[in-house]
Amino acid sequence: MDAILKGLNAAQSAAVTSTAPVLQVLAPPGSGKTKTLTARVAYLLAHHGYQPWNVICCTFTIKASREMRTRLKSLIGERLESKLLLGTFHSICRRYLANYGYLIGIPKGFQIADSSDSLAILTRVIKRLNVSLEPRSTRTRISRCKAKAQNVDEHLQQPPRKKASADEQEFLQVYEEYQNALAASNLLDYDDLLIRCADLLRARPECVGNVEAVLIDEFQDTNTVQLELMKLLAGKNRRVTIVGDPDQSIYGFRSAEIQNLTRMQRYYPDTSVIHLEENYRSSAAVLCCAQEVIEQDTVRPNKRLKATHCYGTFPVLRRLPSAHDEAKWIVAEIKRMKAMTGNLTTFSDYAILIRSAHLSLLIENALGKAGMPYRMVGGYRFFDRDEIRTLLDYLRTISQPNNNAALSAIINVPSRKIGEESLKELLRLADESGTSLWSVIQKYTQGDLTMKKKLSRPAEQNLCKLIALVKEAKKRMVNVTAESTAKFLLEFCLNKLSYKEYLQGKHAGDHENRWANVEELLNQANDIAESGSNRNGVDSEESLPEIEGLDKQQSDSNDEALATFLANITLSSDLQATEDNQEQECITISTIHSAKGLEWPIVFIPAVYEGSIPHSRAEDTDEERRLLYVAMTRAQALLYLTCPLRQSRSDTETTLSSFLPLKLHRHFVQIGPVVTDKVVRDIALILRRSPPSEEELLKGLKSLSERESSGDNLWPADGSAKPKQWWDFEDEATSTRHKVDLNTDRQH
Ligand code: ATP
Ligand code: MG
Repeated sequence: MDAILKGLNAAQSAAVTSTAPVLQVLAPPGSGKTKTLTARVAYLLAHHGYQPWNVICCTFTIKASREMRTRLKSLIGERLESKLLLGTFHSICRRYLANYGYLIGIPKGFQIADSSDSLAILTRVIKRLNVSLEPRSTRTRISRCKAKAQNVDEHLQQPPRKKASADEQEFLQVYEEYQNALAASNLLDYDDLLIRCADLLRARPECVGNVEAVLIDEFQDTNTVQLELMKLLAGKNRRVTIVGDPDQSIYGFRSAEIQNLTRMQRYYPDTSVIHLEENYRSSAAVLCCAQEVIEQDTVRPNKRLKATHCYGTFPVLRRLPSAHDEAKWIVAEIKRMKAMTGNLTTFSDYAILIRSAHLSLLIENALGKAGMPYRMVGGYRFFDRDEIRTLLDYLRTISQPNNNAALSAIINVPSRKIGEESLKELLRLADESGTSLWSVIQKYTQGDLTMKKKLSRPAEQNLCKLIALVKEAKKRMVNVTAESTAKFLLEFCLNKLSYKEYLQGKHAGDHENRWANVEELLNQANDIAESGSNRNGVDSEESLPEIEGLDKQQSDSNDEALATFLANITLSSDLQATEDNQEQECITISTIHSAKGLEWPIVFIPAVYEGSIPHSRAEDTDEERRLLYVAMTRAQALLYLTCPLRQSRSDTETTLSSFLPLKLHRHFVQIGPVVTDKVVRDIALILRRSPPSEEELLKGLKSLSERESSGDNLWPADGSAKPKQWWDFEDEATSTRHKVDLNTDRQH
């Protein structure tokens, strides 16, 4: 049998080999959608003779595209894999714009404004216009406009409705100024990458060349612009495969449109639909609980999850006195589980999935105290650390001196005796004359421009040195190979700025850690710039095919390498910098949103109370329910939901999430499981690993204190893995005690 189809079930094979031009694969979590999509890519190359550079495959996260690349390498070999256009929508759009953006007037060497750049720009615009908008929410509002409007200019040109409120007028004014500020710095924000690429492909459809297939994972979370991009990229061949699951649509708050599934069917009336049914990821026990949660959504069609694994171990629902206790309990439980499952599990098998980023704090502290390695996904990034960010802003300035955001971030770092007020004045001068901060400081130092309050003599001299540094860097970088441009520039800046001494002076307490981060960045620089980009699932500039009669943007190879290096970093919001971190076995802490599409043997979901999930500020309760469903369906063998009785921040009492109504509790045990032989065997079965030997288990047990190994649980010691029959609890609302028979749900 074809190696590509090996291990697939009949429905999956049908999807992989389907000759339908337009195909939707709709299926619940863990049913092998991503696996099927990956196999279909390989199949199209091997059996339909498609050229890899004519196949576009969009994943939702960089992590997902990296995993898909690894899988494809083994199916079709590295040579073909490296030529595929595989990445997130953003990275694919950036590639088109870098090559052909000039056709719609996007200047050469544009850079990407990340969310902190956008915020800094908006804050300045709002201050300058002296309006009463809040920068963060304005950023979201702009992003929502962009995700819906097909074209920025169109949106801005819409005449404000007659009775536009004062707030709306202010908003439009800020929006327009924000766009101007981005343009002045030659920046595109994340949304612009998509919109401008759609503009490009609409204006010059020939840019897509002969795309033979477009494949999209997690389609339920695409927005209007992405749907449009799908159509444009599919071009005249119009061969599209998408996989998705309406029950897992969780990005509505960022303008994802679940209706895109039906819109697509309307646009391509010949769409075929294939459903996959069996779940290969989770134990039946986990699936039962997840099913109960999603079933509360009454408008969804009735679909049941079909387990292929044994029943497994009942999920745990555990209430703890405080958020501190909750964090401590989770850490203790991981320690206990790990010891008691012997070699069966490593730290990387454990994940803690949180609704909001702030929930990680206590858990990180507890893990830190226990000396257990962890990795935070979707949180504070390595590249956002001060000492790293500064260096990258120097590189961004060298690459594109007109980038006001980058230059204003470094103009006084290390100190050049240029105060906040002077910087504001310089920026104002730039705005007024319609030029960049860079040209303003050049003119000023040459005496061609005056400021209300002159800079001090040393400040002026420092500015001259900064200008010289940027110019010298630009001049000297052409002497090194393209791949080593970024590393060369980093070393150049470190040297010129005496960066190590600067860190020593500025951060006496932890300069060593900071310097270690800098060294790490140096180590990684070449990788991020070239092959590393591919390995990370991000761009490699060459992979767009040559199209007859259409020139790609020509740029110096060093310039281009530097731009790619910087874009790879900006677009890798879910990428960790250090290889070490990836190789070391760590517990994962992730927001639920970033955990999409992934799986772990053992999953903890803390803080399942009203206000946290569903979140108090969420607009759509159904989306919150789907979020919990997504989180629960990440678990393969063991699932824990925990809830503190009191909230840490406000110290108020909590109510268990309404998504976990009483009738559901029969599927849970209220207290942690005793790790019996059967539990360990079930985990091994589900993970298809060999169970640990008795010897290993005994060793694990010995390493725990008596209290730790017995746990404070009520699991039947005979290994029959039955849940507790009775549940005693106190209803917070009425302060009355209840006793519920968990088999009948009857109260006594
Ligand atoms: P999600 O909706 O969460 O993204 P998915 O439908 O994309 O899930 P995958 O991640 O592709 O599901 O697959 C889930 C797990 O099931 C993976 O570990 C995968 O290797 C495994 N799997 C999928 N199909 C099969 C199969 N036919 N036989 C054995 N294992 C399978
Ligand atoms: Mg998937």
